[in-house]
Amino acid sequence: MSNLLQNPTSSTPTHGPTEQVTRVERRLQRERRARAEAESLLEDKSRELYLANQQLSQLNNDLEARVLERTAELEAEREHALGLARIDPLTQLSNRRYFSNKIQQMAAQARASNQMLYLFLIDLDGFKQVNDLFGHDAGDYALVTVANYLREQSYASSFIARLGGDEFAILSPSFETIEQANEFGEKIIANLPVPLAFKGHKLDFGCSIGIAALPLHTTTYDQLQRYADLAMYKAKDLGRGTSVVFAEEMAEIRRRRVQLRIDLDKAITNQEVSIFFQPTMRPNTTKAVGVESLLRWEHQEFGWVPPLDILSLADDVDFPQSLTRYILQQSLIQTRPYILSGAIDWVSINLVDKDLRDLSLPDFILGTLQELEIAPQHLKIEITEHNAISDFQNATRIMNKLQTKGILFAIDDFGAGYSNMLTLDRLPFKVLKIDQSLITQLACEVETKTMVKAIIEMSHALSMEVIAEGVEDAEQESLLADLGCDYVQGFGLGLPKPIAEALPAALPLKLKL
Ligand code: C2E
Ligand code: CA
Ligand code: CA
Repeated sequence: MSNLLQNPTSSTPTHGPTEQVTRVERRLQRERRARAEAESLLEDKSRELYLANQQLSQLNNDLEARVLERTAELEAEREHALGLARIDPLTQLSNRRYFSNKIQQMAAQARASNQMLYLFLIDLDGFKQVNDLFGHDAGDYALVTVANYLREQSYASSFIARLGGDEFAILSPSFETIEQANEFGEKIIANLPVPLAFKGHKLDFGCSIGIAALPLHTTTYDQLQRYADLAMYKAKDLGRGTSVVFAEEMAEIRRRRVQLRIDLDKAITNQEVSIFFQPTMRPNTTKAVGVESLLRWEHQEFGWVPPLDILSLADDVDFPQSLTRYILQQSLIQTRPYILSGAIDWVSINLVDKDLRDLSLPDFILGTLQELEIAPQHLKIEITEHNAISDFQNATRIMNKLQTKGILFAIDDFGAGYSNMLTLDRLPFKVLKIDQSLITQLACEVETKTMVKAIIEMSHALSMEVIAEGVEDAEQESLLADLGCDYVQGFGLGLPKPIAEALPAALPLKLKL
């Protein structure tokens, strides 16, 4: 446009100057309009752009907020999951998994700062009964109460966990000496808030505690756990409700047990576990009328292993049939010639409490007798009162079934520990064995003699025969004869031995068969 003004000669020469001005002004106006239009368009566009931009940034903000929100949600979920992985939901104490981490951590801290670390393993006594008698709600209530109680009793620096079931643990660096730690354990036991009142019931239970300390007993955290565990077992053995500090010999006993368990498996397979027989006779006679079968195993390193230990070890061994069944079979096979020839009247075997819960045992016993063609009356079964009442119902069933077939039951160890006349009345015992602790005192204690006399008379009144156990000398034997005792058995009359040595005089009879 400015070119046109400056250079009018370039326009068409046929037009006059006014006309030219008018044309230029018209063009100018046109161009101004166009410019205004363009500007307004631009304005519209830029408004649109602005709005779009605003929307975009709003969208962006929303998105950011959503991402933040979701991150927080995920974080919370992670925390919750972590919590679940660490916390026992019932008691809100740490769980075993977290305990396993924490013990490593605390052991490392204790080592680094030259401090002691004490581990208390706490196991409830009688908790199963609470559950069985009053239901799981009652059990849960007991566990929560114990958890709260442990929290209250422990130092702030302690770490408390529920390891599972009725087992708790406390890790604490807060004691100067192991004696102080033990005092704390005793205090936990003494102040346990029992019995608990729950829905009109009284929940009664106790606890046993095993304690081990680092670095006093060991320098590793896993050994610390094992040692506290051994101390806890010892506490249970001592009759529960006790706090026991780990001692070196517990590890030795453990080592021995583990070794024995391994070796028992082989010994059973190789028939190194054997059965000895101890004769029973009428007083003042020498001929055996029956024998009691007793389990024997001589270990290369540890010597003779007590029979009850063998039986409890056998529970853990992968043995194709129960050791009891093996003993029964072997006892019958080995005494068979003596029984069939009439050299002896019976063989006695012992049963443990576990056997009296095995409802298939009677058929096994009767089947074995039948296979070996031995009449049931030649078998006696000895049961202690304690074993009989541990599951009274099943024991009654098993005993009744066998007794109706002619097998006789003897109550073993009578007069030792727990003796209840009701058991004699309710269970089909036909023989009573007076415990050797009474026989040992027979000659020196007048009261014991009176007691033994009363037991013999009572047994006879109940149509039971009496065997005195642990007879070691002639004086005891003749006193028992005077008191009317039916049979005697003991080291003074015959030691437990392999059958051919226990009944040497009977061998020719067997050969005559
Ligand atoms: P028990 O049934 O009371 O067996 C008698 C125990 O007294 C045997 O000990 C025997 O060796 C011992 N004894 C016998 N006469 C005398 C004596 O005059 N003086 C002394 N001091 N002891 C005498 P053992 O063989 O060590 O058995 C201990 C317990 O282990 C047995 O007590 C019995 O309860 C159990 N037991 C042994 N063998 C078996 C078995 O094969 N099966 C089962 N279930 N238990 C068994
Ligand atoms: Ca016995
Ligand atoms: Ca006995």
